[in-house]
Amino acid sequence: MTEFRIVEIFESLQGEGYNTGMPAIFIRFAGCNLNCAWCDTDFRRFSRFTLTQLLATLKQYQSKNIIITGGEPTMVKALPELLLSLKQAGYFIAIESNGLGKVDLLIDYIALSPKFCYQSRYQKIAQPLADEVRIVVENHPDFLPFCQYIEKQIDAKRYYLSPCENNGVMNMHDTITLLGKINEGRENNKWLLSLQTHKFAGIE
Ligand code: SF4
Repeated sequence: MTEFRIVEIFESLQGEGYNTGMPAIFIRFAGCNLNCAWCDTDFRRFSRFTLTQLLATLKQYQSKNIIITGGEPTMVKALPELLLSLKQAGYFIAIESNGLGKVDLLIDYIALSPKFCYQSRYQKIAQPLADEVRIVVENHPDFLPFCQYIEKQIDAKRYYLSPCENNGVMNMHDTITLLGKINEGRENNKWLLSLQTHKFAGIE
């Protein structure tokens, strides 16, 4: 029987990127193929759901938007089965992925967050199309070339830099300095700032 390993399901507002403020049900899957030092997600503790249990749980919430996240949701083997059921039920489906896996065609909105700390893993790009790319800023001389490389490799409608929060401190100055540099000489600011506004708002 199909089984899903899920860390949490909750209804809230999207806090980051273009869809900031969008009401949504978040499904956080267990497991990730990376282990970023500053990761703020505990994706190792989980509960098991059958497809029927998962769909019944989702029905308890009001929103018709679903954000599939993790961990790394493209690693979930039975995801296509879930996506089909969600589409049949009329949900809008967004995904948050680190960009190392191919995203299913049934997904309506793709947000990719390539990780500089694993830059060698992005030599082969699995998902070259996205609605948005969001990269968490790390303090390293090669960070900007990495962003420029990702911009060439992933055709996205929008590109964002996000400050990295480590022990409650955000590298905000570095983030806006890098935004200035990456947008320098362009008529429009191609790269924008994305903050984890849910943290400021005190919501999940
Ligand atoms: S890719 Fe995301 S979920 Fe995985 S370790 Fe890095 S920050 Fe955490």
